[in-house]
Amino acid sequence: MITANEGSVTIMVPDFTKVSARAPVFYNPAMEFNRDVSVVALQVFQRLLGGEISVADTFSGSGIRAIRYLVEVEGVSEAFANDINPLAVECIKNNSLMNSVSPEVSREDASIFLRTNHGRFDVIDIDPFGTPAPFLDSAAASARNNSLLAVTATDTSSLCGTYIKPCLRKYSSRPLKTEYCHEIGLRILAGFTAMNLARYRKSASVLLSHSSQHYMRLYIHVRRGARRADESLRNIGFILHCFKCLHHEHMKGFVPLKQECPHCGAEMEAAGPLWVGDIQDSRFIGEMIGEVENKKLNTATDVLKLLKACLGEAGMPPGFYDIHEVCSKLGRSAPPLRDVMDGLEKAGFRVSRTHIRPTGIKTDATIRDIEEVLEGFSV
Ligand code: SAM
Repeated sequence: MITANEGSVTIMVPDFTKVSARAPVFYNPAMEFNRDVSVVALQVFQRLLGGEISVADTFSGSGIRAIRYLVEVEGVSEAFANDINPLAVECIKNNSLMNSVSPEVSREDASIFLRTNHGRFDVIDIDPFGTPAPFLDSAAASARNNSLLAVTATDTSSLCGTYIKPCLRKYSSRPLKTEYCHEIGLRILAGFTAMNLARYRKSASVLLSHSSQHYMRLYIHVRRGARRADESLRNIGFILHCFKCLHHEHMKGFVPLKQECPHCGAEMEAAGPLWVGDIQDSRFIGEMIGEVENKKLNTATDVLKLLKACLGEAGMPPGFYDIHEVCSKLGRSAPPLRDVMDGLEKAGFRVSRTHIRPTGIKTDATIRDIEEVLEGFSV
């Protein structure tokens, strides 16, 4: 058996040589960061709701999430730990005993589990192997009013556009391999989740989204109501990108209008349909930042770094410019990023970094405005 300590819990899983779906019970120590962020997000959400909350860990594996939520998040009165693997179910039971908690353990296909427990959870955590796409319909059907849907996707090669057809198949959306393709991936996942929810007259507000290591993770506030769902779908649209001069823009709506790049006249390519609204909520993330120090997290420093970067992105337009790529297109060396940001701010534009790339900046300036600012620096 392998012993793992995370947050305030200790669990044991059967020996494995490599982290893989073929392990007897799946446990990936590299996902501790993901789970640490989840603990903080759930605590902040519980506080927003007030009172006791019920949490569903639909793909529980070793049980680590359900157990951590019960032990580490105040106000979690019940947790459900579900997994289709019988060995995982045994493991969840043993780990629960070890940590003196009693989640309700089940062995169902996740979709059936969600359907049969319709409207029962304040938080639904979806953490499958690969894509969450096949499970989002049941999650959307099951999600109750004023609940949190937390979704992980590890099929980043599809969402980021390394492979286009799988993304079309799974998410009915066209990815685009740009320098901000991970942000496009997050937006495709958010848009797809929102469209699933809308089918059940539910709306989506993205509270936090991050692309880290080999996965993407979204926290979505779900509310009921046809009007709210219609409103939420106003955030669906397309990102248009010019591969010739790197200009990009976004448009709302379900029909992409092929457009000439307004700067260089080349034909732009479209990614979508996807979420073009906010993918970071400053209030929620601000609360999370305040909560980190109250928790015992091995990755607290990294969690804070991520949350501060995501906070800076709130309210900024979709996509970002990688200043090194822009400079390389212009055949010049890149000035320090901070200086370019200061130059843009001085010229009256909004600027932030992105958690996705250290050389990227999000801004409401156009590619031409950026080029003008760059002209002010020696080559
Ligand atoms: N949430 C876990 C954690 O944080 O350590 C990891 C979950 S692992 C990525 C995916 C789990 O989903 C595996 O334990 C697998 O047995 C389970 N699984 C796969 N297909 C499933 C299905 N259709 N319904 C329920 N569980 C499933």
